[in-house]
Amino acid sequence: MAGIGPREIAAAVKTLASGNLARYSSTRPSLVSAFEAELASHMGVRHALAVNSGTNALICALVAAGVGPGDEVLVPAYTWVSTAAAPLAVGAVPILVEVDQTLTIDLQDMERKLTPQTKAVIPVHMINLVCDMDALVAFGHQHNLTVIEDACQAIGATYKGQRVGSIGDLGVFSFNQHKNLNSGEGGAVLTNSDRDYGRAEMFHDVGSYERGYRSTYDGPVFPGINARMPELSAAILRPQLRRLDKQLATRERRRAMVLDKVNSLGRADITESPHHDVEHAIGVALLFDTVEAARVFGETRGVRRLADTGRHNYTNWVSIRSMAYHHDDLDPHRFTQATPDYSETSCPQTLDMLERTCTVELAPELPDAAFKLLLTRLGQQR
Ligand SMILES: *Cc1c(COP(=O)(O)O)cnc(C)c1O
Repeated sequence: MAGIGPREIAAAVKTLASGNLARYSSTRPSLVSAFEAELASHMGVRHALAVNSGTNALICALVAAGVGPGDEVLVPAYTWVSTAAAPLAVGAVPILVEVDQTLTIDLQDMERKLTPQTKAVIPVHMINLVCDMDALVAFGHQHNLTVIEDACQAIGATYKGQRVGSIGDLGVFSFNQHKNLNSGEGGAVLTNSDRDYGRAEMFHDVGSYERGYRSTYDGPVFPGINARMPELSAAILRPQLRRLDKQLATRERRRAMVLDKVNSLGRADITESPHHDVEHAIGVALLFDTVEAARVFGETRGVRRLADTGRHNYTNWVSIRSMAYHHDDLDPHRFTQATPDYSETSCPQTLDMLERTCTVELAPELPDAAFKLLLTRLGQQR
């Protein structure tokens, strides 16, 4: 299991034995608070709020930014479905934006999808590939948008020397089973804004008023949800965070080996997808000239064609595309002036990219011997 070794097991047992399983249940300093401080320092950001999922981290970030009914939120058409579901949870509507060859949000299409109702954009650093943050931050300033980085799939990755998640107005991590840090379920909101931090903290804790939120936010107390992180999660995330950079260095090394192997095939129909900070890249994507070549390559064990990765592909977002809601009177589509296009044909460029791009497994948990076998299989793709 990703990230779970003797240190995590020892930390979990120690926490269980302590009897303190909830961060606010004891007068002792909580493990969640300690983890938050370590995470904030590691990522180079003023505040980190630990929560119980990446999806809830997105929702807390949108609440913090004051996004709500009538607002439009730009999201890429290639991302985990949560990025598009989170705006709906706060009453806003997601507007699908194409991804380009880098597999991150396409700035030209963002420009086209912009309206006076656009309030925020959620660029996503997919499969450890980083977005063009300089351009995105400039775009956000120019159009008065909140930039919320979805760094759920790129924890620890850097863009021009800064950790992703620390560059936009807010950043979001997930610690689910498949991510660079893993507590089964979990997440975090990062921000340098005292006000946004205070609002996210209040919302994630049912609007409790006695925890000292007043130190960062002096607006009225409003109710929220319970998205608190359990102590056990923080206990196992702390040792993982200390190992994170070593794990990412393994990814970086393996990435170079994969590219060497692919180059040695001498195939003119495969190129590495362009990357926004290629010197520090820890993710890999391969772009093929034809759909068929990508499909065949994607059948190799340890390789995945992006079009075949389920709910990362907007055409499989049944719940978004249905435009149904849990209550008609709260339906965000009633409050918006937009007529969002969630049809299968709404983002043809994205579909083309997903159908012609493959990624290769670089996970540090994969034993060296298994990774060697993967390289051998790649070498056979003549
Ligand atoms: C995993 C993920 C999420 C949601 O995280 P959960 O912890 O599963 O709720 C959001 N966005 C992206 C890009 C993700 O990969």
